[in-house]
Amino acid sequence: MRLTKQQTMHIGLDDTDSTRKGCTTYITALLVEKLEKLNVKFLDYPSLIRLNPNVPWKTRGNGALCLRIAHATGLEDKIKEAAIGLVEEHSDLDFKGTNPGVVFFQNEKIPEEIKEFAEKAITGIVTLQKATGLIQKFGGEALGFKNCRGIIGALAAVGETFEADYTYELIAYRMAENCGLLRKVDAASIFEMDELTQPYTFNNVDSEKRRVVITPRGPDPILFGIRGETPEIVKEAFRIVKPLEPVERWVVFCSNQGTDAHLRRVAALNQLAPYSSVVVRGVVSRSPRLVPLRHVIFSISDGTGEVDCAAYEPTGALRKVARDLIVGDRVEVYGAVREPSAGKRLTVNLEKISILALAPEIVRQNPVCSECGKRLKSMGRGKGFRCEKCGTRFSDAEKVQTVRERKLRAGLYVTSTRSQRHLTKPLRRYGLEKHGAGVAGMIGNWHVP
Ligand SMILES: [Zn+2]
Repeated sequence: MRLTKQQTMHIGLDDTDSTRKGCTTYITALLVEKLEKLNVKFLDYPSLIRLNPNVPWKTRGNGALCLRIAHATGLEDKIKEAAIGLVEEHSDLDFKGTNPGVVFFQNEKIPEEIKEFAEKAITGIVTLQKATGLIQKFGGEALGFKNCRGIIGALAAVGETFEADYTYELIAYRMAENCGLLRKVDAASIFEMDELTQPYTFNNVDSEKRRVVITPRGPDPILFGIRGETPEIVKEAFRIVKPLEPVERWVVFCSNQGTDAHLRRVAALNQLAPYSSVVVRGVVSRSPRLVPLRHVIFSISDGTGEVDCAAYEPTGALRKVARDLIVGDRVEVYGAVREPSAGKRLTVNLEKISILALAPEIVRQNPVCSECGKRLKSMGRGKGFRCEKCGTRFSDAEKVQTVRERKLRAGLYVTSTRSQRHLTKPLRRYGLEKHGAGVAGMIGNWHVP
């Protein structure tokens, strides 16, 4: 056997899909099959990186992909041709908002500056100029279509090396002829899978509405995706789910989904910036108010500023919690900062609320009758009270203050599964977080074909 010199390549892909067709994870799955035929060695699972969900120009799920491989010298051009060919063939190039980007990076180690770029693309705003500057500086190659915005996500996917928390997703794809038709998967088997694999899989079903959430709704080629803690558990879960239509292929991806990677802790309310996602503390300064369409809005302040916090109707349980807050409650809010309309306060669209301390709810009531125990009736301001039952009058009595028991409890509350963002860490994952060290080894069959 002749040993050939091996070289490393990182391939980043982004923004090939639209609301009407395609999916960058599918192009990646096709590329995995092609690369396998070229005898490359996969250095890691393909990575599916969700970028900042609050950029105004985002695509559907704002997910970018990366493949990391070792290949024999001399195969570079074949590999690049395969990637570019698939992007050209499967991107929705006629769609206005679709601007694919492909990045090839041949350094063995990812430079710190590119890792930092990835972090910024997940938590904030980055520019195309910055991306192309870095690609030039470190000798990468980029191919952009149309306005080339996809290069940003493609580079970010290359730069995210999972040094903090990460998860996995097994995605099963449909036959081309079924795309656009109703997805056929046995719902009972999905509930069973959730039951048998929890807490090591997450976001399978919405327990409030008894609804399956692993099947997307759009015309994309995804039949379903199972998210979990390890490649083994998502494969195990996949064996339990019963698809009622053929599965064309499936792949296990490594991902930042379900890790809260988009959230940044901010020290004071006057430091909030639009388009970011934050964790910030404050004291409820205005009572919750119900606005049309059953949204709940309350305000918090911390001495440096005041912001509105909004719990929208689909947040379910979170909205109920928000409704029961009172002025004085100490909370930590998690969510996306929205730019205010003229003259209004900034708004945090809530993904989670942590109630740190509940204020005592004081209610002022009429006193009770000392003769018969019935609550007295007021005879008018400053005129005392009278018992309606026994007729006794109490001219000197005053209202009494009592502390009413709060229905709320301190603790963490998360938006319902159906309204969680890809990046939101669900309650089920608390305590299961991984702490860097990258991905250890790979299981044998992580994709078919
Ligand atoms: Zn009485």
